[in-house]
Amino acid sequence: MKQTNTCQPATTILSLNIAPTQIIRGKNALAKSGEAIALLGNNPLIVGGDRSLNIIQPHLGPLLQNHHLKFTQANYGSDCSEASLANLRQIVTTQKADLIIGVGGGKALDTAKLLAHQSHLPIVTIPTSAGTCAAWTALSNIYSDQGAFLYDVSLAKCPDLLILDYSLIKTGPARILVAGIGDAIAKWYEASVSSGHSEQTMIVAAVQQARVLRDILFQKSTVALQEPGGETWQEVVDATVLLAGLIGGIGGAQCRTVAAHAVHNGLTHLSASHGTLHGEKVAYGILVQLRLEEMLQGNQLAMTARQQLLKFYDEIGLPKTLGDLGLGEISLSELWGAAEVACHSNSDIHRLPFRVIPEQLVAAMVSTTVPQEPEKQNLVSKPEMLDKRL
Ligand SMILES: [Zn+2]
Repeated sequence: MKQTNTCQPATTILSLNIAPTQIIRGKNALAKSGEAIALLGNNPLIVGGDRSLNIIQPHLGPLLQNHHLKFTQANYGSDCSEASLANLRQIVTTQKADLIIGVGGGKALDTAKLLAHQSHLPIVTIPTSAGTCAAWTALSNIYSDQGAFLYDVSLAKCPDLLILDYSLIKTGPARILVAGIGDAIAKWYEASVSSGHSEQTMIVAAVQQARVLRDILFQKSTVALQEPGGETWQEVVDATVLLAGLIGGIGGAQCRTVAAHAVHNGLTHLSASHGTLHGEKVAYGILVQLRLEEMLQGNQLAMTARQQLLKFYDEIGLPKTLGDLGLGEISLSELWGAAEVACHSNSDIHRLPFRVIPEQLVAAMVSTTVPQEPEKQNLVSKPEMLDKRL
């Protein structure tokens, strides 16, 4: 069941998918997970990309054999696409798989979760990077075979088992953790705008947890990146993979995404953007969202927040501009195309409390690093002056 409207009264019947049924977490957690996996099925199909399958095989293969499980593995391709899912459903049928094990980053886990949902099978997620909270959530994003975001699907439940093995996550590049930090801090900037005024207990809780998540990442990210595998690093991984997922679970769809993700979705339609990671585009999208709030609402808090984020991005290496995303050379018509996708009538950008049109979005996208202009502060702080400023 899709949770699309958190403004509904609390009595509306909603299916809450808050957390995985079981989580096994720690250094070498995978080695201790054989029994829990064996309780869920006998013929698992392992779904992942080449890198993740190679990394996990020496650990997972013997573990499954020890528990007398007959397993098959399949590469999901390059994206969580309809074609990839159709191919995998075929493999599920021919192999008579009765359990899906997803291994890898966001796209691999999204594919595995949706495959399990469509095949009515239990699902185990084993993240090999801290780039997203996909290992936790009851949501999958569908992309075209060319990597353009198409739509998301709400799943019937969160995974049956999540195995968070720090030793596996440590094998991933630092850049992926940095991107995960960008994706996780977006929760505060998006949820506080779309749901900050909600009176509903679960939404209030989710928004407050998003602030806690942001503060943990502000405080610990720099140290964590200096000591991969260390204690602070583990806390930051817990924040990007677990706490970020929990916030999505408690808050439902409206606490997940607003303009930052809408900008990401628009950018995925530019082939030049495919060299950058989900969380990198989302991090840039937060700056764009704040610019929109500054430009269209005269919001001084948004201006301050953007300056704070620019400093944080400098420290940990998140992109601040289109140029940082490798999009410095795109044409105006390409930029316009991405803005039109982001402003489509179904886009999450319309969860902002004001209307946004492509002209305004393009203006925000090219001005993410504009410095604070003290002489204009008084002018834009009064709502009645907004029209003049625009
Ligand atoms: Zn995201």
